[in-house]
Amino acid sequence: MNIYRYDAVIVGAGLAGLSAAIETKKAGLKTCVISKLHPLRSHSGAAQGGINAALNEADTTSHEFDTIKGGDYLGDQDAIKTLCQKAPETIRRLERMGAVFSREADGTIAQRAFGGQSKPRACYAKDRTGLTCLQTIYEQADRLGVEFVEEWFAGDLLYDPLSRAAYGVSAMKLATGEIAVFNAKATLFATGGYARCYATNSNAHANTGDGLSLFLRKGLPLEDMEFVQFHPTGLAGSGVLISEAARGEGGRLYNGLNERFMEKYAPQKLELAPRDVVSRAIEREIAEGRGAGENKDAIWLDLTHLGEELIAQKLPELRDLAKSFLGIDMVKERVPIRATAHYSMGGVPTDNECRAKASETLLTSGLYAAGECACVSVHGANRLGANSLLEAAAFGRIAGETIVRDINDLALIKADATDALRFADETQRLLSSRGGERVAALREKLQKSMSANAGVFRDQTSLKNQTEIIADLRDRFSRIALRDKSKLFNTELQEALEFGHMLDYSALIVAGALSREESRGAHYRTDFPNRNDETFLRHTLGYLNDEGKTRLTYADVTIGEYQPETRKY
Ligand SMILES: Cc1cc2nc3c(=O)[nH]c(=O)nc-3n(C[C@H](O)[C@H](O)[C@H](O)COP(=O)(O)OP(=O)(O)OC[C@H]3O[C@@H](n4cnc5c(N)ncnc54)[C@H](O)[C@@H]3O)c2cc1C
Repeated sequence: MNIYRYDAVIVGAGLAGLSAAIETKKAGLKTCVISKLHPLRSHSGAAQGGINAALNEADTTSHEFDTIKGGDYLGDQDAIKTLCQKAPETIRRLERMGAVFSREADGTIAQRAFGGQSKPRACYAKDRTGLTCLQTIYEQADRLGVEFVEEWFAGDLLYDPLSRAAYGVSAMKLATGEIAVFNAKATLFATGGYARCYATNSNAHANTGDGLSLFLRKGLPLEDMEFVQFHPTGLAGSGVLISEAARGEGGRLYNGLNERFMEKYAPQKLELAPRDVVSRAIEREIAEGRGAGENKDAIWLDLTHLGEELIAQKLPELRDLAKSFLGIDMVKERVPIRATAHYSMGGVPTDNECRAKASETLLTSGLYAAGECACVSVHGANRLGANSLLEAAAFGRIAGETIVRDINDLALIKADATDALRFADETQRLLSSRGGERVAALREKLQKSMSANAGVFRDQTSLKNQTEIIADLRDRFSRIALRDKSKLFNTELQEALEFGHMLDYSALIVAGALSREESRGAHYRTDFPNRNDETFLRHTLGYLNDEGKTRLTYADVTIGEYQPETRKY
């Protein structure tokens, strides 16, 4: 069994992981990036619509305020300030590295409108913004000589609870089943989002939230997991995303009665209200019988008035998606859409420099998180569109800089062969299990029940029901059997490992949602439809024990200049 030693091990090769790797490598730290996918297949590459920045820096405070209000005042205002202040330099840096953003006729970077923003702020590269940013940053990381450990699956965090110190991960090479230890002074998780635990979602198959569960299994907390974003415009049926850029460019929503129903829900912002508001409006129209399409279970997204030239120029990818998945040309016809699980506001709690927290008051040592898997809490209860690529790039870089600053104070805890055993045992147990349960069936049950019971609308009954379903699935998971017993590219084994992770953090989504008896941002309780700042203006920290039982504690929200107000659009 091999033990590889580094200064910094980064798990995740999306925009966050690569932004960090560039910093650690530039500072001369021996760095490797572990990814279960080829880096360019990381989900950052799927981001379509844009990346926010107040390029006119006088507008930075309004970017801040829009983000705070968009997040229904749950975001930490000091972290949001950092995000917005770092935004213009993040865009300029990406541009200097070679990212080609779309331009206005006068040569300035073009910016489009996105939901919940008081000004057009999303810089974009047609509707392939994430791909442009990811390719650029990957090229730079590769040029600098960052070592990539591709198609390796990180399965165990090496962590000493007494000293609260991390010292790397153990991981499995997907091609051969080999397990090795990647031992480091600093370990960063940038493993992306977790919306894959829902049946209808916009996420890649890889977005199974593995990193989050590895933290939970070491007794570490996750923050605000109940806040899952449902994007208003997933293609009906598949949930594949039609970016907010479509509404940013002027797209309109109509119900089955041909009413532009957003006039009722957000009279000023209409289709460009924040995502939580638009998703609820869509689901409400459908639930009250005003849906569109044969089964009245969709809503029309209308772009036909925009014309072929604009769509070809600014939204070509979206046109392709609607054609490929539904056979519809959005230049000529309206597209049926519905809300789709999309983004994870919750994640690993960190301080503003990306150090992972061990509890409400204590930090870990040598352990960091950035990007969608982290909860530095810049999005609060609801992320604004185009703020996530920004978070991944800006806080990924901050994580790298923090590691460089911390490294001399971090001693290497030397890993040995026993550190590979926990993960090796887990894989062996799955391979040799002889029960009658199948992963695919359990996963389908989890996803469908999460959508039904912990989706856009939830209440006490549905969440209690979901708690029992998860407990039952946990029990059944202990009796699964894999048909494929081989070591070579055993995708069934990988899916079983991923399902185990999904079960872990789903329990936290449900527990957080059950205890939060209010409605705030993306978390909407039909039995508690109002926001309750007195009791719930606080972050949830959730822990999971070995038996799958959850425990919640709470932490203060950092309020700065902006006192919570009623959110109207
Ligand atoms: C369809 C879609 C469109 C979007 N459009 C926009 C947009 O226009 N603007 C915007 O701001 N945001 C957008 N987002 C959100 C944004 O793309 C993501 O939040 C962001 O890219 C996340 O970056 P990341 O680096 O944190 O994670 P990712 O890019 O998801 O990378 C995660 C990495 O972790 C690795 N990994 C995960 N688990 C393991 C494991 N067990 N072992 C080893 N490696 C592992 C993966 O291989 C991958 O390299 C969109 C999201 C979706 C789904």
